[in-house]
Amino acid sequence: MSETRCRNRLGDIANALGVEGKPVTACFATYASQADNSVDLKQLAKKMDHGRATDAFGFDDFLEEWKEKKKAVKEADMEEHYNKLLRYRLYKDYPGSEAGDGYWTYSFCRDSWEEESCTWHCRVCKECNDWREWHCSTCNKCTYGVSLPCERCSKRGGGFDSDDDFGQDSDSFWCY
Ligand SMILES: [Zn+2]
Ligand SMILES: [Zn+2]
Ligand SMILES: [Zn+2]
Repeated sequence: MSETRCRNRLGDIANALGVEGKPVTACFATYASQADNSVDLKQLAKKMDHGRATDAFGFDDFLEEWKEKKKAVKEADMEEHYNKLLRYRLYKDYPGSEAGDGYWTYSFCRDSWEEESCTWHCRVCKECNDWREWHCSTCNKCTYGVSLPCERCSKRGGGFDSDDDFGQDSDSFWCY
């Protein structure tokens, strides 16, 4: 997809959710730019609600409360309730997303809730990786083992190893 189309798509999603000036997570940026058709937010929220590792809803304070409240939400208000879930996990630093020790993130690559400390999304490889993997800037690929040299070029760890070490975080419509 062209950069412009992707940016427009992220703009449409932000409008639909009433979000202003918040950058999406690296994982969602990849998902949005790779989706063939426009992103069906309703369907996406339902997927997140029923995604694998649903015990995330028992560990993450925000998610636990969201699930609890859902029981009492009327059908007419359900879309807005789902939007809360989307805003919480589609955007970086959305209020509430820094809460608690059990911080869970949604991996659109894996269709699953993942513990934030265990999984990260590489912006170059465009995939979610285990925390034990790091991105080798020489091979331009992720490699396994934080304390091991790169499996391809034997370079020692270093370079960037997390989502947040990348620039452009302030750009709300950055497409990967
Ligand atoms: Zn991902
Ligand atoms: Zn990588
Ligand atoms: Zn390498």
